[in-house]
Amino acid sequence: MNTDCLENEIAIAGAGIAAAAVAIQLLRDGFRPVLIDRGLPSSKGIEAISESALRLFAALDLLPALEQAGGVWVAGFENAWQSHEPILRSGRYLHVDRTALLQATIATAIDRGAVLTACHTLPAIRIAGDRAYVTIDRVERPFAAAIDATGRSAIWSRSIRWQQQEIAEIYDAIGDPNCLRGRIARIADGWVYRLGLPDRMTVGVVRSQRLRGQIDNALVNASLDLPNHTQLRFLGRRPAVPQWAAAPIQDCRIAVGDAALASNPIAGQGIRFALSSALAAAAVVRTWRDSPANRAGATEFYNELVATERQQHLASIDALYFNEPVSTTNHQLSQPILDRTNLPATVCFTGQIKTMNLYIDGLIQPSAALILADGKAVRWLGNFDLLTLQEFGREPIVTAIAIEHLRSTSMSQESALSLIQWCLEHQIFASIPAPQSTL
Ligand SMILES: Cc1cc2nc3c(=O)[nH]c(=O)nc-3n(C[C@H](O)[C@H](O)[C@H](O)COP(=O)(O)OP(=O)(O)OC[C@H]3O[C@@H](n4cnc5c(N)ncnc54)[C@H](O)[C@@H]3O)c2cc1C
Repeated sequence: MNTDCLENEIAIAGAGIAAAAVAIQLLRDGFRPVLIDRGLPSSKGIEAISESALRLFAALDLLPALEQAGGVWVAGFENAWQSHEPILRSGRYLHVDRTALLQATIATAIDRGAVLTACHTLPAIRIAGDRAYVTIDRVERPFAAAIDATGRSAIWSRSIRWQQQEIAEIYDAIGDPNCLRGRIARIADGWVYRLGLPDRMTVGVVRSQRLRGQIDNALVNASLDLPNHTQLRFLGRRPAVPQWAAAPIQDCRIAVGDAALASNPIAGQGIRFALSSALAAAAVVRTWRDSPANRAGATEFYNELVATERQQHLASIDALYFNEPVSTTNHQLSQPILDRTNLPATVCFTGQIKTMNLYIDGLIQPSAALILADGKAVRWLGNFDLLTLQEFGREPIVTAIAIEHLRSTSMSQESALSLIQWCLEHQIFASIPAPQSTL
């Protein structure tokens, strides 16, 4: 038997965006991905891609595919969830037709060397030892790993769990230059959204599955601030419930994208998670091959990654639907404090460090990370390695000197101030009270 083949062929079920992304990264790592797909048309509609997801497109060298798909930049997003006066969320969003995006990303994966095999029914996988066996063209073939990228079908990753009972009805309408920007609004029995491209827009009506039936076109138009005469043309339905695989990784089978965790569309995280889980899954497969001693660690890393995403998603959905306070999920610097007088005069490094499995240079490796007050582990803030803060030692340091020290690593004054504030918030630094003057 050809051992090179055994080591490097990866079976991927599905040919959506997660399948394309995982195939592209696996090709870079020297694997040979084989995509197996039914070739059915995908659900139609316009998608909004946030800037955080765009970084992942860039990491996969997929920005040309976005351009090919005809993506259009739109500034901001209108959130009318709580009132008719929307809050304008800042940031840029790329609006793109999802079918065009899918075609462009899959074409890129094939151009780069992925093989696409059509099937009427997805073959079952048989796992034996650390190999997956899949029958293609009546021949059972061994694969070093099997990736389930079949979206919400999660064919290779049953059983699945879900929460809520909502469904989205998707409509198409003629574009309007004043309605390019995305908007969400609450209606009595659910919520609605719009996303625009210059020539057309997508409108989604999300309601409980029990409430299927005629929508109130005038109410939708008013909630989404569409011109009165806007006619909605029904495109189809899609599930809107959060759904997840009970075991996103097992033996040598990994679920990515919606097959691992499909979110409520209000989060706008589907594309970002499809790409980030694809990159993580490719790193796990590479670790299994190149660093077999850490096989179990890589598996654990992936399980935790999906579990953390799921917990954060469900918490943020609960907070939104039941108006509960939402905890910050991403580790980002808060708004910069431009004045150092807001900071204590002296700080002290109090961070706790633990060895964990981390994603480093495309591999899952045991490495040190800082443990935050809420128990979460973090190593990098943007490109800044937080472990370098240990250089401050455990002795109190004058904040101005700490700022100069950070600036010597070519960090701007503004970023250094924000970093120190973030460290104080997360108890990586403690503020040292100024000494009491004795009379
Ligand atoms: C209308 C719509 C609007 C959306 N808008 C946004 C948005 O604005 N922003 C955002 O971030 N996300 C959005 N999403 C979600 C986002 O599109 C998904 O999270 C993302 O596409 C998931 O990618 P995936 O590759 O995991 O799954 P999919 O794109 O669903 O791909 C699954 C693949 O598996 C194949 N497959 C399925 N079943 C089988 C089977 N039995 N046998 C063989 N192959 C099979 C399918 O043919 C397909 O190729 C939207 C989704 C929809 C439907």
